[in-house]
Formats: sequence, structure tokens, C-alpha cells
Amino acid sequence: MIYKIHYFLILIIGFNNLNAQNIVSTFEKEFKLQIIVTGTFESSFENVNYEEVSNEKLLNKYVSEILIPEFKKYPDSYFKNINLKQIVLCKNLNIDNQHRAAIPDPKKNTLLLSIDSFYEKLYLKHVLHHEMHHITEYALWQDMFYNWKKWNKKNTRNFVYGTGGYEAYETENKNIDWYKINNPIKGFVNLYSTLGQEEDRCEIVALLMTSEEKLYLNQFIETDKNLKRKVNLTLKTLAKVSGKKLKYWKEKLEL
Ligand SMILES: [Zn+2]
Repeated sequence: MIYKIHYFLILIIGFNNLNAQNIVSTFEKEFKLQIIVTGTFESSFENVNYEEVSNEKLLNKYVSEILIPEFKKYPDSYFKNINLKQIVLCKNLNIDNQHRAAIPDPKKNTLLLSIDSFYEKLYLKHVLHHEMHHITEYALWQDMFYNWKKWNKKNTRNFVYGTGGYEAYETENKNIDWYKINNPIKGFVNLYSTLGQEEDRCEIVALLMTSEEKLYLNQFIETDKNLKRKVNLTLKTLAKVSGKKLKYWKEKLEL
């Protein structure tokens, strides 16, 4: 009987491994990107730490339910155009001891994604698109903090951005709801967007690409002309990077 149980367990474990590998290789082939699940990747940033994912079931679920459907939203050549080559799937991801769901590392052509199950599914999707756009901006400008004058002109006069996304993670700002999507200031989807130009653009892309959140954006731009101009400029950026027409993105995102 013991032998039978052991044999049964080996079968189950073997089957799960195979499943996760299959789904990972399906992704790799479809998007021509490599997935790293071992702890071997070294970030170009100092103080980035993460742990390997040991739960095959969780890995499988993340790749099939989030990674594949969300990556499918981008046109074929997109990842090649932004020089993305690999995805690190991990857990307990942090930078300077701050927990993060994702970190873009464009110098290493890599997007790090934490698949910890305590993050909500919607947040995991949002953050994936947000960080992907940081990589897109780096491909465009070789700078993740590019000061785009044309962009700034779309804001209301006298508006001044904060000192960057990092500000939201500072202890004294912990009680502020940075991510609430409520168009708190003319031209902005949330307070996080007011911290830096790059975060503003990445938040707009995250809303455009996350179907559950796009509804908010559609609603805001009906009355917020500043935000509408920024959404249009963002769509033009996506068109430029992907080598597609503006119409393609407008149709794709039903705008
Ligand atoms: Zn960001």
C-alpha cells in the first residue's frame, strides 16, 4: 500500500511539474521571451531581492491566467521593439527593503514579476502593464525618468510633479491612498500619477490595458480635457513604438 501511495504521489508531482513547464514553454514560444524561475538573475539595481517560486500550481495559474492573456494584448513586434528579452517570475520581491509586485530592469532587458498570491489579480495585471511601460520609455529615450516637455504642456498651468514614485513608499506618506482611481486632480487618474511624469504615463497605460479599469478612464476623459490630451499622446507613443497606426490602438482599446 505504501508503495502505491508513493507511486501515486510521484505521479502527481511529476504531472504538476510537467504542466508548469509546458505552460512556461508555451509562453516562451508564443512571445519569444524567456522565463526565469530560478534565483539566478542579478538585477542592474542594487538591493533587489526575491525568492524562487516553489509552488508549481501558483506558477501555472499566474502564467495561464495573467501572463498569457495580458501579453496577448500587445501587437507581435512589441516586446522586440522595447528590447524585452526575459521575465523573472518570483515571490517576495523587494527593492531597498520595500515590497514590490514588479520591477522593470530595462538595462538587463528584464521585467521582474512577483506572483505572490496575496496580491489581488487586478493589481497584478495593472502593475504588469505599468512596469512594462517603464521599459517602453527606456527603449524610447534610454531614460526611465525622461522629462517630456510636450507632455508637461498637457497639464494645467502651474502644475508641478512630485519627486517620483518612490515618494509613495516613504513612511510619512503610507496613509495616503495613492492608487485610488478617482481623477482627484484635473489631468490625473490618481494621486500616484502626480508624483512624476513617468508614473503619470505608466498609470495611463495600466488603465488603458486593464479592461476593468479602462471604464474609469473613458468616464474621466469625457469631462477632463487635460487627461484626454494625455491619453491621446500616450496612444501615439504606443503607436510609434509598435509601428502600428493610431487607429489600430484606438480600435484595439475601443476608444
Ligand atoms: Zn512606476
